[in-house]
Amino acid sequence: MNSLWTPLILACCLLGCTPAEPTHLMAKGPGVRPPVLQRAIPEPLRGRPHPARSTDYAKHLRLLRQRLPNGFTVVLEPPFVVIGDESPARVRQRAAGTVRWAVKRLKRAYFPDDPKHILDIWLFKDGRSYREHAKRLFGEMPDTPYGYYSSSDRALVMNISTGGGTLVHEIVHPFMEANFPSCPAWFNEGLGSLYEQSASRGQQIIGLTNWRLAGLQRAIRAARLPSFEQLTRTSSRAFYDRDPGTNYAQARYLLYYLQERGLLRRYYRVYHAQRRRDPTGYQSLRQVLGETDMTRFQKRWERYVLTLQFP
Ligand SMILES: [Zn+2]
Repeated sequence: MNSLWTPLILACCLLGCTPAEPTHLMAKGPGVRPPVLQRAIPEPLRGRPHPARSTDYAKHLRLLRQRLPNGFTVVLEPPFVVIGDESPARVRQRAAGTVRWAVKRLKRAYFPDDPKHILDIWLFKDGRSYREHAKRLFGEMPDTPYGYYSSSDRALVMNISTGGGTLVHEIVHPFMEANFPSCPAWFNEGLGSLYEQSASRGQQIIGLTNWRLAGLQRAIRAARLPSFEQLTRTSSRAFYDRDPGTNYAQARYLLYYLQERGLLRRYYRVYHAQRRRDPTGYQSLRQVLGETDMTRFQKRWERYVLTLQFP
């Protein structure tokens, strides 16, 4: 595992994750959507069985209960254990309605392999519970008010009062880590961000327009966006540390564009298959778009983004 992974993912949440609604329960947003081209989607990738067995879960739960604060409900939702201090019914509803809903669709679309370890999803009912318990359980005060994934703690730590969207965003990261460990931050955060406002289209998870749109549209009007070649070439460290304020949104709406043209899952598979000779994903992007002139493509994409709406 990349030793930079944990700080990078923590950093993502410092800079990029903001509250979002549990959007798959919401009505579809009013954004302008071009017709989706129907394309053959490659067969789902074949995954390895989850390494954790029922005895592993039993042991995990036993150890968890030894350090469980009072008033928490624990729900097994493989490959996660969901733990929360909202009402037991609400915690169960989040486990089935958000975690299971998202995991099932994300696995079907992209991620054949489960995370290597059993991961805990801590859902704290408000900001105070989140800060106090994060400090007590993990030894550090969170730097983000919303939530984060910590690979080293094997935990997603969420202030769930800020909405279920951030939870879906963070769920993408351990799956990406298990399935595409060399994935650069632009694609990891682009996909996480895409699904922080999500819904079902048939059996598929789709991202909807969200709060990141307005800033992106301002940057497009001011001609401030880097090229896609620059964005995809950005190192993971630079993506977080030297974000001009548009990295997440530019990556998100590139993937949104691919989604709306029925190309996103194909792009994931092509890029994943070519990841060694195309580590940035840029050549795979050109290939999937069938584009030789990426400057012209970016102009077209920018015009498209300016037609989108949120809310
Ligand atoms: Zn993230």
